[in-house]
Amino acid sequence: MTNDRTEISSLGEFGLIDHLTRNIELHHVSSVLGVGDDAAVIDHFGKQTVVSTDLLIEGVHFDLGYTPLKHLGYKSVVVNLSDIYAMNATPTQITMSIGISNRFGLEALDEFYEGVYAACSAYQVDLVGGDTTSSSKGFVISVTAIGEVTPGLFVKRSTARKGDLLCVSGDLGGAYVGLLFLEREKRIFMESPGVQPDLENETYVIGRLLKPEARRDIVDFFAEQNILPTAMMDISDGLSSEILHICKDSNLGCVLYEDKIPVSEDMKKAAFKFEIDPTACALSGGEDYELLFTVSQEEYEKLVLNENISVVGYMTDAEEGANIITRGGSRHPITAQGWNALKGS
Ligand code: ADP
Ligand code: MG
Repeated sequence: MTNDRTEISSLGEFGLIDHLTRNIELHHVSSVLGVGDDAAVIDHFGKQTVVSTDLLIEGVHFDLGYTPLKHLGYKSVVVNLSDIYAMNATPTQITMSIGISNRFGLEALDEFYEGVYAACSAYQVDLVGGDTTSSSKGFVISVTAIGEVTPGLFVKRSTARKGDLLCVSGDLGGAYVGLLFLEREKRIFMESPGVQPDLENETYVIGRLLKPEARRDIVDFFAEQNILPTAMMDISDGLSSEILHICKDSNLGCVLYEDKIPVSEDMKKAAFKFEIDPTACALSGGEDYELLFTVSQEEYEKLVLNENISVVGYMTDAEEGANIITRGGSRHPITAQGWNALKGS
């Protein structure tokens, strides 16, 4: 945050909204009417509409102690777009609602919106509305993302089939380890404010947490290759819990191979510094925003063309349960460990 501070009260609510939305650029003809009226009007011309919303609360979902506002604005948008891509759809519009306390000056909000507009531009989505209120204490953010999909081509969690390949995009566990570093530096800073943070070697994992990207490239690849996944979701809570969602909703079991789970070298090195198992980070760490999907075995030849996709297992009958085969060859049921389960392991 800069030192200049303009009180938000000096603009008033409408002045603030005008200020925040003055340079909006619209990318889509589907954005028939944007900011400035009681509601936006969207016409997807024969497509189906996909809608998803998220609420983010300071102290619960983000910590302004180590999250730059611009990154927070970017991430608030991107995590919503990730939900739209996870339906095999293309995001086209967002609305952004904020609750702000008097701790925030206009400059702080401008930084936040810089990130919001950077994401809108990177993913070609239109900001078409929102709401602005005061909050007695923390910063509150709610984003709604709207997208379009060719009728019938949206992909649910409940439609995987026995024998399908289980796949993930990118690599996993990085955001969780990034969070461990930032939490550790915050503790050190609280105890001895003079100490400079030592995070230079951890740019990859910290970037995974603070500046995630949504996997538009994977959804584009499906379209180019004429692949329709049988089930899909994004990985916001950790691989194991998301796999269990697909198994439960599709009434299937699965086999997951530990040695196929994609992890980056940077994440592995960082995990070892905390003496935690990289596989545990991938299985239980959250916020990587990669895609988890199932595809018919016939698509295997096409899938291997994409180096950002890993086949990590396959779907079985429900009776077999959801299991992981470890590097050592033993078989264990997959459990939905939360983040806390990692601590001290
Ligand atoms: P209403 O009284 O109907 O809630 P507002 O005065 O809150 O309308 O909003 C006026 C216009 O500005 C609407 O188009 C609304 O969607 C938009 N808007 C309000 N707050 C924001 C915001 N934080 N970001 C983007 N657009 C906003
Ligand atoms: Mg309003």
